[in-house]
Formats: sequence, C-alpha cells, structure tokens
Amino acid sequence: MPPPLLGLNDERGQAPLPDLFLIRFLYNSAMLISVDPSTGEEIGRVPLMDAAEVAAAVARGRAAQPAWSKLSYHDRARFILRAREVVLEQVDEIANLISRETGKPVTEAIAMEIVPTLDLMHHFAANAKQILKRKRVGLGQYNYMARTSYIVYKPLGVVGIISPWNFPWATPLDEVVMALMAGNAVVVKPSELTPLTAVKIADVFKQAQLPEGLLEIVIGDGSTGAALVEAGVNKIMFTGSVNTGKRVAEAAAKHLTPVVLELGGKDPMIVFEDAKLENAARAAIWGAFCNSGQACASIERCYVHHSIADKFIDIVVKETKLLKQDPPSTGDIDVGAMTNQEQLEIVEDHVSDAIQRGAEVRTGGHRLNKTQGWFHEPTVVTAVDHSMKLMRDETFGPVLPIMTFRTDEEAVRLANDSIYGLTASVFTGDLGRGKRIAEQLDAGTVMVNEVVYTHAVAQTPWGGVKQSGYGRTHGSLGLLELVSAQHIHVNAMPGLADVWWFPYSKRAGQLFRDFARRFTTGSVLNSLPLLPKIFRRLIEPR
Ligand code: NAD
Repeated sequence: MPPPLLGLNDERGQAPLPDLFLIRFLYNSAMLISVDPSTGEEIGRVPLMDAAEVAAAVARGRAAQPAWSKLSYHDRARFILRAREVVLEQVDEIANLISRETGKPVTEAIAMEIVPTLDLMHHFAANAKQILKRKRVGLGQYNYMARTSYIVYKPLGVVGIISPWNFPWATPLDEVVMALMAGNAVVVKPSELTPLTAVKIADVFKQAQLPEGLLEIVIGDGSTGAALVEAGVNKIMFTGSVNTGKRVAEAAAKHLTPVVLELGGKDPMIVFEDAKLENAARAAIWGAFCNSGQACASIERCYVHHSIADKFIDIVVKETKLLKQDPPSTGDIDVGAMTNQEQLEIVEDHVSDAIQRGAEVRTGGHRLNKTQGWFHEPTVVTAVDHSMKLMRDETFGPVLPIMTFRTDEEAVRLANDSIYGLTASVFTGDLGRGKRIAEQLDAGTVMVNEVVYTHAVAQTPWGGVKQSGYGRTHGSLGLLELVSAQHIHVNAMPGLADVWWFPYSKRAGQLFRDFARRFTTGSVLNSLPLLPKIFRRLIEPR
C-alpha cells in the first residue's frame, strides 16, 4: 500500500514530501518511482539517467546502426516479428503493467495499445520494403536527353523518440518498430510517469534478441529529454504537449535536427440531424471517456444540430451514468483513474470555469473521493460556449461539453474555431455530405461516422495541423519521416557535353531564349524546332 513513501526525505534536501498524491513520482537517490495512480501504491523504481548516460546511449546506437542498416528488410522484419511473438505470449502481463502505471482498465490497455501495436508490427514488417523501394522520377523532356532519376530511401542513423504517458506502450513502440524497419537505431525517452512500461518494451526486444545498442531507453524527466535533443541524434519524434513541443523544436533548431511534433488537440465532433442518433451518442461517450479522456484525439467538443439536441443529450447522459468507474484492479470497469494529479486539476479548473460562466453539468462534474486515486467522474456539460476554457483549451480528461448549431456553415465555423487541429469527426447518414464537410475542417485526420481510433490503423497517417504539430507518424507518410530521400540522377551519354555549359557565346544566348519560349512549355512538338540549333551548339568550337 502507498504509505511507505509518505514523508520520505527527498535527497535533494527539500522538506519531507507531504502527500504522495501531490507528486506523481519522486526523486530519491536518483531513482524514478512509478506509482499506480488508482491506488497510490509504488509499482517500482528505475534509475534516472543524466546527460552523460544519454550521450552514451546515443553513441551505442550510432555504433550498432551501420550493421543493422545493411540487413535486408526481410532480416529486420524477423526481429520485429519475433518481438511480436513475445508480446503475444505476454499480453496479460503487459496489459496489467500498462494499467497499473496509467490507471486505465486492463481491457482498454489491450484494445487501445496492444492490439494496434501488434497490427502495426505485422504491417511494417510485411510492407516497409514495398513502401521504401527505389522510386523512378519522371523527367518530362529530359528523358529524351538520355537522363533518368530515381529516389533511394536511406536510414537516418539514430532516431530519438520522446513520448508522453497516456499511451506509454503504443506511442513509443509504434515509432520504434517503424524506425527499426527503416534501418535506424532508436533511443527512447519515455514519460517520467510511465518508465516501467518503457523498460518492458526494451525487455521484449531483448527477448527477441535484437542486437545490442539498436534500442536504448533513457529514463528521466524533461531534463533527460532535453539531453536527448542535445545528444546529436538525426531526428526527434516528439509526442507531448504544445509547450514542450515548442521547446524541443527550438532546441533542435540549434543543431538543425529535424523534428516531428505530435502535440495536443481539442478535437470536435459534429452531429448532423440525419445521423444515427443512438450510435452517434455512444461514439461521443467512448470518444470523450476512453482512456479517461486522456487521448490527444479525445472528443473534447461536441456540436449537435439543434433539432436533435435534446434527444441526443438525453441518450448521452443516460448512457454515461451506466459507465462503471473504479480502480482497474477491481475487475471489469469502463473508466479508470486519470494518470496524474496535475491533469486532474486542469479538468476541475475547466469544469469550474464553465460553471461560473453559466454551463450546466448534466452528470458527473466532480473528482471521485471513494478511492485514494486520481479519479474524475465522466462528466457531460451543456450550455457551453467558446468563452469557456472547456471549449478552448485542451482538457485531456473525462468531460464532454455539448453545444448546438443550426446550419452546416455554423458547425464548420465552430469546429474550426480552435488553435488546434489534430482530428475531427462528422456524424451523418449522408456520406457525401460527411465527406464534403470533412474537407472543410482544419484537422490532420477527419473521421466520418467514427471517433478517435485511426491512431490504431497502421496504414493511415497520424498528425496534426495548426498547434497540433507537424510531420506524420504511421502509414507510408510516417515511415518516410524516418528515412532520408536521396535523389540519383544519371546521364547515359557521358561523352556528350550539355548545351548550357561554357562558353556562353552569342549562339548560346539565342538558344537559351528559344529554350525559354519552347522547351519550357513541356511540349515535345514545341521543342522539336530547337534540334538543329542544339546540334550547332554542340559542335560549336571552343
Ligand atoms: P509533456 O509535453 O509534458 O511531456 C512529453 C514528453 O516530453 C515527456 O517524456 C517529458 O519528460 C518530455 N519533456 C519535457 N520537457 C522536455 C524538454 N525540455 N525537452 C525534451 N523533452 C521534454 O506531455 P505529457 O503531459 O507527457 O503528455 C500529454 C500531452 O501529449 C497532451 O497535450 C496530449 O495531447 C499530447 N499527446 C499528443 C499525441 C499526438 O499524437 N498528437 C499523442 C499523445 C499525447
């Protein structure tokens, strides 16, 4: 039980720690202590790594990567598929660990983290070769000059992965698999709140006999992440909050290290009057309350056509009241704990700000006191508007605010009225209308009659626009982030000089003017009259 940690002296000489729940992890003898957020129990401790250890991890990756990059895709895939077998054999153990470190239900850890990652491992083991195969580039009229071009995709080297706590298994592991398949070594800096899950990822690959140095885990807080950015990796794949993302991009810019930023969201769901109401309501509930609302793609704002709003809200409230919320260890539950106290306080602040501005809580609304952990009731709020934090800032908790609209234009305007743009959802019985509206929304992904889940689809790209970040993970676009595209250009007539080389004679000047008029039209017919002039230029005396 938790009390053993209460009152421990922090070895940095600070006052006795007042309350375990005020701090999610403690530094003690340079150890990171992982705590079950649903009970307060210590789960385990892991040594913190300093900048020198991070640099050493990157150096080990640097040393191991060249041999790995020379392996065929088939051989790399063998290690990934072996790791997949290890995960399959240990699904329950892994799900329990994820659940204990995050507070989410075990069932949800399997559905939202383990199943998608197993699928992704299979997908990239099977398809990375095809996605990254050499690609011919069409050259238009240059092809008639015996020129060819193609792209080869080369590994980057060492990729740094910095990840958050909400999907501590899937988020880093997906990127590890893709980076390894692309021929890179990886160094992962997991969240300080979920270090043990990351240690388990390393253990899985150890059991799969991945050569040493290719996957390094560096445990620590933001300073360890900052050390990884400074350690000279070839790319940073960052997932986390907007503020930290900006800091990472700024630090990386000093070294011109490229960065992919997967940041926060305030994802809207639009429900039109022709939607299947029951299903749309169930989607809204799952979209808002799965993972205790702590998904970057959680439904954080729901806009419902005014003509169906009462009915929709009734169903949502009724179904929300049926959700079972308890510590995951107590058995079959729907909603678990939140993963950290800071996030819980943000949720309370957003709900209370909304109430002060006239919002109405239809169910929930409070922190749960029946357990020791960080629980917030699944909460449905109406009479909301865009002056409220609940409709503007990322809440990242189990709260579903519902607002009404009258026209398609108003729905689009409200949905786009946000600094974020990660995902959005449109519910309608008319798929044509759904697709039309989808293309008007500012989001990296828009789902029609779906919510949240495409992060689980290995084939589709994941990433945002606006303050939700840039770059992509997952899908072919995500894999292409993990390679460098090299262009090879070949002139198959090595004995012939180019007409644009020196000397710049009068004849050359005239020919270039003709090129401007004719060649640049892209038409072979237009360019044909140039041939005699080209010939004369080629035999021009030097
Ligand atoms: P966070 O930004 O606090 O931390 C993310 C990671 O960055 C952690 O590992 C942290 O230790 C590290 N870090 C902190 N300071 C750093 C620094 N200066 N340099 C380098 N690394 C540093 O985010 P969080 O609270 O762990 O996660 C929640 C946020 O993540 C939410 O905003 C959520 O929307 C976002 N998120 C986005 C996606 C996505 O795909 N877009 C997915 C999951 C979570």
